[in-house]
Amino acid sequence: MANTSLMDKIVSLAKRRGFIFQSSEIYGGLGSVWDYGPLGVELKRNLKERWWRSMVYEREDIEGIDAAILMHPRVWEASGHVAGFTDPLVDCKQCKNRFRADDPRLKGTPGEPDAQCPVCGSKGTLTAPRLFNLMFKTFMGPVEDSAAVVYLRPETAQGIYVNYLNVLQASRQKIPFGIAQIGKAFRNEITPGNFTFRTREFEQMEMQFFVKPGEDERWFEEWRAARMQWHKDLGIAAEKLRFHRHGKDELAHYAKDAYDVEYEFPFGWQEFEGIHNRTDFDLSRHQEYSGKKLDYLDPATNEKFVPYIIETSLGADRLALVVLVDAYREEEVEGEQRVVLRFQPSIAPIKVGIFPLVRKDGMPELAHRIADGLRGRLTIFYDEGGSIGRRYRRQDEAGTPFGVTVDGQSVQDQTVTVRHRDTLKQDRVAADRLLEYLRSQLSG
Ligand code: ATP
Repeated sequence: MANTSLMDKIVSLAKRRGFIFQSSEIYGGLGSVWDYGPLGVELKRNLKERWWRSMVYEREDIEGIDAAILMHPRVWEASGHVAGFTDPLVDCKQCKNRFRADDPRLKGTPGEPDAQCPVCGSKGTLTAPRLFNLMFKTFMGPVEDSAAVVYLRPETAQGIYVNYLNVLQASRQKIPFGIAQIGKAFRNEITPGNFTFRTREFEQMEMQFFVKPGEDERWFEEWRAARMQWHKDLGIAAEKLRFHRHGKDELAHYAKDAYDVEYEFPFGWQEFEGIHNRTDFDLSRHQEYSGKKLDYLDPATNEKFVPYIIETSLGADRLALVVLVDAYREEEVEGEQRVVLRFQPSIAPIKVGIFPLVRKDGMPELAHRIADGLRGRLTIFYDEGGSIGRRYRRQDEAGTPFGVTVDGQSVQDQTVTVRHRDTLKQDRVAADRLLEYLRSQLSG
């Protein structure tokens, strides 16, 4: 199982180097909840910032918002989540494990004597499939009764829909326009797993684009192309990216058309972004459930309509996993094995490693001065422990694109070498021009 072991290596690297830890690990962990360590938080922030920049700063027709996780419970009735956000599930009465009814490991027909539990192996202990709601429930206020039930949002989109008129009026945008948001979402997933691929708490980066009915198909195509290009520009291997169009039986209750952007993970092709034509379903439903008018008056034509919505919905954690998996390489260089994360420099958690060649002859002092000059401008890591080869390898594993070495010559003439992670090319650069040099490399 070469593929499984590749995931195992990535999971172990992620822990060892401080990308991703299991939540509450000292208590044995919490199922499918993960924490980001010092390198992971930087990677994820860089991805989120890149997304936000491309959506909000680089376009005049998209505004940002940050809606609350807790929303009025009626929102989830209107959205269809209370009724429809369910998966058919099967329980094992023996070992109490729970499975999706479509879990390929289930043998036989659940509910019948021939069915076998894939975990404990018991026969005839699986229940017939039952529907299970994926939303986390909690209570608001001091009384824990049904009147106080609120949900942790299972998607960020609804926070955008219920604010659409507020944003429209406050920003003086006109249709077509979009609203972007990055935030946490929660789903009580039944078969989570594959590391951070499917988790119970995750972050979404969603953009909802409001258009005139009839113009939806054109905008859908435009966004579909733009999103694929965005992933390619991030440096993700083009041959590992593809679209999957939802067939009639896969389409969500709100969707007229939907494509998943898929990546070929070691465990197979899987979705990491969804592009959906949600029609006027959401706004019409909120209009109906709230009793508030949500239609748009086109100032040019005086026409009134409920806008159609084109949604692009990307998981920040799933994207981080795509990027980690895609960057991972085992290579032989200079006669030695190395593990390297070939992140595009702009998203690398640490941009520059700084290394005095040896711990004497003024090298650490100069290296510290250089580090002080860069700190706060670029993310750096100063390392004087171990052989220079080992220090390079450590930064290769962290995905650091540049290594600055201060050697004997540096002390004489104030130049340093810059080692490039992928090509191993070394450039000699004047210390006082280092920041400029690195910035030009990072933007290239
Ligand atoms: P899946 O079928 O994989 O559960 P979905 O079709 O329900 O996903 P959407 O509701 O379209 O997913 O969510 C959009 C994006 O949000 C997904 O492409 C994914 O990146 C992210 N996402 C959804 N559920 C999870 C989860 N449990 N863990 C991590 N990311 C998730």
